[in-house]
Amino acid sequence: MHIEPLQKWVEGYKKPLLIAGPCSVESVNQFTDTVTGFAGLPVDFVRGGIWKPRTRPGSFEGHGASGLDWVDQVGEEHPLEFATEVATAEHVREALAHGVKLMWIGARTTVNPFNVQQIADAVKGRDVAVFIKNPINPDLALWKGAIERFSKAGITKLGAIHRGFHSFQTTKYRNVPFWQIPLELKSELPELPLICDPSHIAGDSELIQEVAQRALDLDYDGLMIESHCAPEKALSDAKQQVTPEHLKEILNALQLRSSSFSNEQIKDELSSIRQQIDQVDREILEAIATRMNLVSRIGDYKKENNVAIFQISRWKEIFKSRPKWGEAMNLDPEFTMELYRQIHQQSVKAQTSIFNQEDEEIL
Ligand code: PEP
Ligand code: MN
Repeated sequence: MHIEPLQKWVEGYKKPLLIAGPCSVESVNQFTDTVTGFAGLPVDFVRGGIWKPRTRPGSFEGHGASGLDWVDQVGEEHPLEFATEVATAEHVREALAHGVKLMWIGARTTVNPFNVQQIADAVKGRDVAVFIKNPINPDLALWKGAIERFSKAGITKLGAIHRGFHSFQTTKYRNVPFWQIPLELKSELPELPLICDPSHIAGDSELIQEVAQRALDLDYDGLMIESHCAPEKALSDAKQQVTPEHLKEILNALQLRSSSFSNEQIKDELSSIRQQIDQVDREILEAIATRMNLVSRIGDYKKENNVAIFQISRWKEIFKSRPKWGEAMNLDPEFTMELYRQIHQQSVKAQTSIFNQEDEEIL
């Protein structure tokens, strides 16, 4: 996959990339007031929804193409790079006609490969950046598939936006982050810029700071934050939008992290700690292999004596004691429990294969 690094195409790029702006472009006044509030802030792209996918009919669905005229009008006095969501080929055509250089695919569109392909066909051969939000369901393959469709259409200014995942349960955040999913994407496509959208993860202006910081701690390349001149009057996502002043406070409070160590002495120490970790990992695997051998011996006894593999009392005992043992060693009981669930699964698998061997021999 050929991906152009942000510093090659974002003017004056300095990590983190910052995309900020209202959830929706609502009027010339609202857009002007928001954009003027950004004076002095390192905003690379001003975002604004023109076409809004809403859960239920009757909600504000964006102003459509006239919103793009307003953006142009405001841009004449306050030069800006505009970014918006596109959900159909027609949206792409209108956005391109207005010189939009960055488009993103919304979470509700990424789930549908037909829609994604139509949009990819519409941007084919055009010099435009496309960022792909994660699908609303936690499906890494679907997210990657959408990114691949744009890459195949010749788009090289690509990026992924992590906006969290829908959950039926109520959680602290509007969308569950499942940080391990974007991190897996990053490890599979390390050159793909990864942007966090703390606004749609948090769903609450008071929680943006902590989510944004978490993203920077995980070495994300940028942030997309919803900001509105008067959030309480916003026609969509009122609760999660921050005023430009609040955005400034958030940015000032953020701790920037560098991707790697620069100090040689720290590098040496780090390498020595990593060697120790390698050694410990070997010991962990050796201990697990020893345990599996013991499990197999028990499997032989069970087979010989015609006893069932699954001994519920034994596993109850293990699940009760191990988290306690771990806790005494400062390990999170939830983590120990999860670890033993995996070990249990593997043990049952090993003993099942011993039982199946016997069947084959009898046959
Ligand atoms: C948005 O960015 O305003 C939006 C609708 O986002 P998402 O697709 O993440 O829900
Ligand atoms: Mn929004």
